[in-house]
Amino acid sequence: MAPLDPHSFTDSTHPLTTHIALSLYFDFPSATIHGAALFTLSSPHSGPLSLDTRSLSIHRVLSPSTLYPIPFSLSPFCDHIKGTHLSLSLPNDAALSSFLITFSTSPSSSALQWLSPPQTFNKKHPFVYTQCQSIHARSVFPCQDTPAARIRYSAFLNVPRELSAVMSARHVDRRLPVSGEGYSNLLPNGFNSLWCSETRVVEEFDMNQPIPPYLFAFAVGELGFREVGPRTRVYSEAADGVLEAAAKEFAGTEDMIRQGEKLFGDYEWERFDLLVLPPSFPYGGMENPRMVFLTPTVIKGNASGAQVVAHELAHSWTGNLITNKNNEHFWLNEGFTTYAERRIVQAVQGEDRAVLNIGIGWRGLNEEIERFKDNLEFTKLKTNQEGVDPDTVYSQVPYEKGFQFLWRIERQIGRPAFDEFVKKYIATFKFKSIDTETFLDFLKANAPGIEKEIDLVLWTEGTGIPSDAYEPVSNLYTKIVSLANEFKLGRMPREDEVADWQGQEWELYLENLPKVVEASQVFALDARYRLSESNDYEVKVAFLQLAIFAKCRDFYGEVEKTLKEVGRMKYLRPLYTALVQGIGKEEEKILAKRVFAEAHDCYHPIAQGVVESILAKHL
Ligand SMILES: [Zn+2]
Repeated sequence: MAPLDPHSFTDSTHPLTTHIALSLYFDFPSATIHGAALFTLSSPHSGPLSLDTRSLSIHRVLSPSTLYPIPFSLSPFCDHIKGTHLSLSLPNDAALSSFLITFSTSPSSSALQWLSPPQTFNKKHPFVYTQCQSIHARSVFPCQDTPAARIRYSAFLNVPRELSAVMSARHVDRRLPVSGEGYSNLLPNGFNSLWCSETRVVEEFDMNQPIPPYLFAFAVGELGFREVGPRTRVYSEAADGVLEAAAKEFAGTEDMIRQGEKLFGDYEWERFDLLVLPPSFPYGGMENPRMVFLTPTVIKGNASGAQVVAHELAHSWTGNLITNKNNEHFWLNEGFTTYAERRIVQAVQGEDRAVLNIGIGWRGLNEEIERFKDNLEFTKLKTNQEGVDPDTVYSQVPYEKGFQFLWRIERQIGRPAFDEFVKKYIATFKFKSIDTETFLDFLKANAPGIEKEIDLVLWTEGTGIPSDAYEPVSNLYTKIVSLANEFKLGRMPREDEVADWQGQEWELYLENLPKVVEASQVFALDARYRLSESNDYEVKVAFLQLAIFAKCRDFYGEVEKTLKEVGRMKYLRPLYTALVQGIGKEEEKILAKRVFAEAHDCYHPIAQGVVESILAKHL
C-alpha cells in the first residue's frame, strides 16, 4: 500500500479512475440515493483496488460485460476522517478496465443536506444539495476521493417530476426515464422497478472535462432561473424575490469573466452559472465548475456580493484548472484564487476596493495566527495533514498567507512579469493536480534567482507571518484603521465620517477594534449605527462578536436569531467560539448548547461537525 493522499485510501500503485457513469435514484422520503456506477480505469487491472466510501451501503460489485460478481470487502472500522475502505478483488485471470458498483447513500451522508419542505423558501417541496469539498464525495458514491485523481463523468439523475436537477456539468436532457438505462435495472431494494414510474423524470448530464472528485456537485429541488449574461444564468429555488434579487446582485458577472480572461487566459468551462442555495449552505461559495454554488447571504442589495462571485470565478483558473494534489497544498488553490480574485476586483471596482479587501484579509490572517498559536503547523502554507480532518483546520491561512506570498513575488519581479508568469503557469499545468514543490520548481525556472531574493522555504514551510509580508496602504484603509484606533480612546466615528461606508468598511472598522471594549461603548455604537440589525451578515456578525465579548446580554436574542437563520460557517465559527471560549461564561455556554441543539438540523453535516468540535473543545 502506497498512499497518495493522507485523506484517501487510494493506492498509488493502482490505476486511477478516468470516468464514472452514474445512475442515481433520489428517494426523498428516506433521504437516500440508490445508485449504480460504471467505473473506467486508466489501464486494465487485476488484484486489489482501493476506493473511499463513507456511510455508503455497497450492494454488489460486478463485471460489466458478464455481470459476474467481483469479490469486495469493507474495512470493519470506519476511520473518523477517511471513512470506510472499500477493497475490490479484480479477477487475476482477466484484467478488467471497468467494473460496476451498486450502492445506497445513508441519510447521514456528510456531503448531502436534505431539506424538508418547511426548511425551504417555498415550503412546498423538498430540496437536496451536495458540498463535496474537501473529502465528502465518498459519501455520495464510492471513488478514489483524492484531487490527484481527476475524473470525467456522466449522470442520470432520476427525480420526482415536480422537481428539477442542476449539476456542475453540461445539461444534456430532461426526459422520461428509460427502462434499464445506465444499469438502473440493477438498483437495489426494488428501486429498479420504480425507475420508470410515471411520477419520475430523468435529468441527464455530462462532464467531459476531468475534475477532482471534490468538484462533483448537484442540487435537486423546485428551481427557477434568470438570464444575467451570455454564459450566465442565476438559479435558485423558484421563490418570490430571491431570483430577482440575485439577478440584480450578479448583473456584472460577464464583466468579471472578461476581466478574468484578460488576466488569466480563456475561460475553459463554457458556462458560468450561479446557484443560490438555501441559507444552510455552509460556505460563502463553492467553485463547482460551470455552476458556482452560493450562500444567499452574499445577496446584499448593493452588488457587493460580487466579490464572492469574483473569488469563485477566479477558481475557474486556479483550483479547478490547476488543482492541489492533496489538501496539504490547499494554499495552491486558495492563495492563488485570493490573489486572482483581488486582481479582478481591482479591474472592475477599482484600487481602493481591492486594497480594502487586502486589509480585511490581513486582519483575518493575524487573527488566524493567534487561533493556531498552540498548533503552529497550520500557520504554514504547506502543512502535514496526516491524521488531521481538513474541515477542522480550515482557516484563512492558505488564503491570506498564500495571497501574501504571491503578492511578495509580484513585488519582487514586477507586475508585468508576474502577469506573464501566472499565464504561463496556468497554461502549463491546466487540468493537472500539483504540489508545492512543482510550483516552486516552476517559479525558480521562470524567475531565475528568485530564491536569492525571497526565502521560499520560510514562506512555504515556516510558521507565522514572514517579516516581508505587507500590510496594505491606501487613504481609505488607513483612515478606517485610525478611526478604529481612536475608538479605543473613547471616540466614536462621526456620521459624516461614515456617510458613504458600505459593509466592507464597517467590517474592517469592527475587526480593528480591540477584542474587549466596555459594554457602554457597544451600546453607544449600536444606538447610533444600528449594526446589530444590519442586513449585511459580515457587519452584523462582527458586531455581535464584540457584544458577546463585552457581555452585552441585550444582544443575545439577536445572536440566537442569527445562529438559527444561517448555516454559513464563516458566521457560526466566530459566534459559537465567542460564546464558549474563556472563563466565567456559564450563561453563554448554556445558550450555545441550547441554540446548537435547536438549530442542529438546519445546518449542513459539515457545519454540524465544525460546531461540535468547537463546543467539545471548550465545554
Ligand atoms: Zn476559494
